[in-house]
Amino acid sequence: MNAPGTPVASIDERDWTAQALGRLRQEAARSADTHLLKLEFRGFPGIDFYFKDEAAHPTGSLKHRLARSLYLYALCNGRLRDGQPVVDASSGSTAISEAWFARLLGLQFTAVMPACTAPRKIADVEALGGRCDLVPDPAQVHERAARHAAAGACHLDQFALAERATDWRGNNNIAESILGQLAGEPHPEPAWIVCGVGTGGTSATIGRYLRYRGLRTRLCAAEPDGSAFVHGWRGRDRDAVCSRPTVIEGIGRPRVEPGFLFEIVDEVIEVADAASIAAMSVLEQHLGRRYGGSSGTNLVACLLLATRMRERGERGSIVSLLCDHGERYDGTLLDPDWLRRNGLDPAPAAAALHATIASGRWHPPRGGA
Ligand SMILES: *Cc1c(COP(=O)(O)O)cnc(C)c1O
Repeated sequence: MNAPGTPVASIDERDWTAQALGRLRQEAARSADTHLLKLEFRGFPGIDFYFKDEAAHPTGSLKHRLARSLYLYALCNGRLRDGQPVVDASSGSTAISEAWFARLLGLQFTAVMPACTAPRKIADVEALGGRCDLVPDPAQVHERAARHAAAGACHLDQFALAERATDWRGNNNIAESILGQLAGEPHPEPAWIVCGVGTGGTSATIGRYLRYRGLRTRLCAAEPDGSAFVHGWRGRDRDAVCSRPTVIEGIGRPRVEPGFLFEIVDEVIEVADAASIAAMSVLEQHLGRRYGGSSGTNLVACLLLATRMRERGERGSIVSLLCDHGERYDGTLLDPDWLRRNGLDPAPAAAALHATIASGRWHPPRGGA
């Protein structure tokens, strides 16, 4: 222990911060960039589809980027100290990535999650040494995380900070990475980039970067039917709430989060949950592996935008994201019994998506929920 008033404690503190930053830099250096997978669909000659495979990160989702940024941000703001517990509210993917980085830095991490989170995600957090504090009502997670913070934990606070923790001007953020990978393609300046909105971090980074680079690419938010973002964006209303719940994890928030930036989103496409789930199987057929529900939501929105381009005789590229692995949904979205219990039948929507892909004309994908 250092006597009060000596500067030694703060110098030790800075040493630890520098070491922690060094570990994060080493981790970034060891990690490869994620693939940009190209897809061509029969009904859309002249329109190229690209999917950034964010499931390829060491922790299996696009939240790997966010978690790295949130730890960097907490460290550089002097909010995270040696031995301090770390907490965040997360529906799962962020928690897994944050637990992984906590282990890297030798810190104890607690995830505050809704009790209905996919069991597989809870197991993943615990396997990384994290703890899960499950709350019955998803609306309680913020309050519970704040309680941990009041007791001394560092609150990584993804929903408040995702929008600002990432360096939107470059540093190989997701937008810079995508555009670099497209440089040699037939349409290097995409007509559209499509992503969902959870924290709003990804859409904020992409939207800012497109303007910063002076590109004409438009940004489309692909969201579950009736999400808070859908209502908030249409009315520019920060008090909007969702008009129906969704089973698609990671997006479709019930409230307008602090990181939702409405001005940089050019279009919002609403996707029924059954259509998102049907699109997961379409992705599996075309890519040979399974991706999560929000990746399906993205695919449906890409197809709708492509039918509009085709109607106008436009050629070009559309880029979207594969946000996480399908294996995380073995017991939920990919389980026929679970779907039946939740009144979801993806079969009609799957038929409609296949018809759209074959014809290039929009067949509305319908289905329960
Ligand atoms: C977080 C998340 C999103 C949305 O990304 P944000 O940057 O938080 O808006 C989409 N899909 C999955 C699986 C996610 O975990």
